[in-house]
Amino acid sequence: MRPFHDVHVHNYLSSCSGDNQSTVESYIEVAKSLDMKLIGFANHTWDETIELPASSSFYKRQSMAFQMQIKSQIPERVEGLKILVGAETEYCGMYDVLGMGKDAALQLDFLLIPHSHVHMRNFVMPATEDVTNARARVAEIFAGIEGITPERATALAKTLPEPELEAFMTEKKVDYVQFVSDFMVESFRSLMQNETLKSYSDLIPVSIAHPFQPVGSWPLRDPMVARISDNTFGELFQMAAKRGIGLEINGATNSPEVFRMFGVAKECGCKFTFGSDMHARVDMQKVFGAQPCIDHLGLTENDLMEFVRT
Ligand SMILES: [Zn+2]
Ligand SMILES: [Zn+2]
Repeated sequence: MRPFHDVHVHNYLSSCSGDNQSTVESYIEVAKSLDMKLIGFANHTWDETIELPASSSFYKRQSMAFQMQIKSQIPERVEGLKILVGAETEYCGMYDVLGMGKDAALQLDFLLIPHSHVHMRNFVMPATEDVTNARARVAEIFAGIEGITPERATALAKTLPEPELEAFMTEKKVDYVQFVSDFMVESFRSLMQNETLKSYSDLIPVSIAHPFQPVGSWPLRDPMVARISDNTFGELFQMAAKRGIGLEINGATNSPEVFRMFGVAKECGCKFTFGSDMHARVDMQKVFGAQPCIDHLGLTENDLMEFVRT
């Protein structure tokens, strides 16, 4: 089987799209040229009826009202290509808050939920103790400069990216690989138990976007996945399978550790979706990167979630 659908498509309505020409029509053209049968738009969306657990400039603009304007841009009929309107919402694991309520979810054809946007520090995943301590140390240094108030010093220290704080970590206490790995396990588990999700997961198709793929820490993905045992994956994926919640296989899943993970998921009876997670027109072909994983697992159409079957 080849990936003939892509239900993780961001267009210019997503703040992080670097392609302002990425209109619905242009994606339709690209999808047709790649012989796709189905595409699903999944722009980043935070349902504005859900209170943000912490400040997020990223989601302020990307509300349901804003993102659903895409519905009026979808043509009524396109020969040979099915088009769906979904969303990629957010799961703030550290707060157990899901960014999509039932009323909003029911307006969608499908919903992608990521549990691994670990780059969104102190929103999805807490910063490590090392980082928090280093920031406090830098704030102290800034506050020692004449004319800088303690509040200003703290605000300035917050703007420094984590790699620049390395020099201020006198003794590292945290094993970062283990920290993120543990976080992803816990956030997957709490998402499966989340009450908001329970209220609609059997009413619309839900797939977990890039499961156990730590966004922003890609080079550490395989060591992180390696820390998670088959038993733990089995326990988590059984929860998903029982509820009919799918898992996304994307174009970056070509590694033995990731094959092992999805192998456990398949054994548990999980169903899958494919997604390029593209943010620009040129990237749709990334979905074909899922081919080695499909072949390795021997996936057939029966292993796919129903809404993406042809
Ligand atoms: Zn994502
Ligand atoms: Zn995405």
